[in-house]
Amino acid sequence: MKVIMLGTGSPRLNKERISSAHLLLAGDLPILVDCAEGTTMQLVKSDIPPQDIKHVFFTHLHADHMLGYANFLISGWVEGRRELTVVGPVGTKKMHDLLIEMLEKDIEYRLSLGRPETGIRDVKVIELAEAGQVNVDLPLLVQCEEMIHNVPTFAYRFDWEGQSVVFSGDTAPPTDALSRLAKDANMLIHDSCLTLIQDDKAPNASGIWKNLQKEHCTPAQAAETAKWANVDQLVLTHFLPKMNPDLAYKEAAEVFSGEIIIPNDLDQLQVSSKVIAK
Ligand SMILES: [Zn+2]
Ligand SMILES: [Zn+2]
Repeated sequence: MKVIMLGTGSPRLNKERISSAHLLLAGDLPILVDCAEGTTMQLVKSDIPPQDIKHVFFTHLHADHMLGYANFLISGWVEGRRELTVVGPVGTKKMHDLLIEMLEKDIEYRLSLGRPETGIRDVKVIELAEAGQVNVDLPLLVQCEEMIHNVPTFAYRFDWEGQSVVFSGDTAPPTDALSRLAKDANMLIHDSCLTLIQDDKAPNASGIWKNLQKEHCTPAQAAETAKWANVDQLVLTHFLPKMNPDLAYKEAAEVFSGEIIIPNDLDQLQVSSKVIAK
């Protein structure tokens, strides 16, 4: 499997990193995990036709994980997508329906040009209420666990042909559920939002920082989870602007001895093929 880091940023505006979005490739099968603003263009830049994506998973419905969904919905359909399944926490159906309503005139116009209704009017939305196996029409095993954030948030684990990749979504510690979900996985992609911003000019920066600690992890906390879960590769993401990659790496490496990756947007990561001792 392979992962394309479409967006490695946070809600804070950053000219180098868009907000959260990832593409998992199981062979040629593309699966989108989160869909921040700019995601569709990041797919185009990665030579992944958005219309080829038939499965989208939302970890949660914060703006920095879903604002690109409207564009993805329309552009993918216009380019030829004819089926789509969307998975996410409770609220995903309402979000989807509201966007379709907002785009109604645009959809009607494009239908009048002869486009079929399939791929836009018949999108299947699966809402998750609890942890467990996700029943979705895919040749992968998909499991989820609920994370600690300020809205319902799920981490996802995808297993395919002996390899496994876990996406944490946004989470604060304690991350016991994530350690369970990621047990012996090859790759863990982990929220690492809590890197100090130098000279933060945001109003109420210290108050925001204090609150973030209830909702996100530091590189060291991500590394703790990677260590407990015995994963092969730890990928840190959800970075604030002015984050220092060397410091983040160093902080994680003091805790976790496996491979640590600090990606940039559009980086393509090969999932390791660790053989797990039985
Ligand atoms: Zn969030
Ligand atoms: Zn976020």
